[in-house]
Amino acid sequence: MKTRKVPLRKCVACQQMMPKKELIRVVKTPEGEVMIDLTGKKSGRGAYLCGSVACFKLAHKNRSLDRALKSPVQSEIYEQLARDFVAVEEEFINSRNGSEDDE
Ligand SMILES: [Zn+2]
Repeated sequence: MKTRKVPLRKCVACQQMMPKKELIRVVKTPEGEVMIDLTGKKSGRGAYLCGSVACFKLAHKNRSLDRALKSPVQSEIYEQLARDFVAVEEEFINSRNGSEDDE
């Protein structure tokens, strides 16, 4: 019997530990740009959120992203991220469900 070690990351909004692939990564690039990183491969400081808009809103309210990224996130960036979040949410959920078949 093989137990595969799943890397866990904490959602910055609700503080829940989740498998990395079930979280959406938000990255602050070395250029200071804050964006959603669906590939998980962009360089920079990352913060993780569960793939739900509710948690994103909570992160905004608590300024959890600011703390996780160790820099203030402008409200227009939050607004941009919120739009991106809604756009990727469905794709993200679909890919998550789809990947279950590989197990
Ligand atoms: Zn969360």
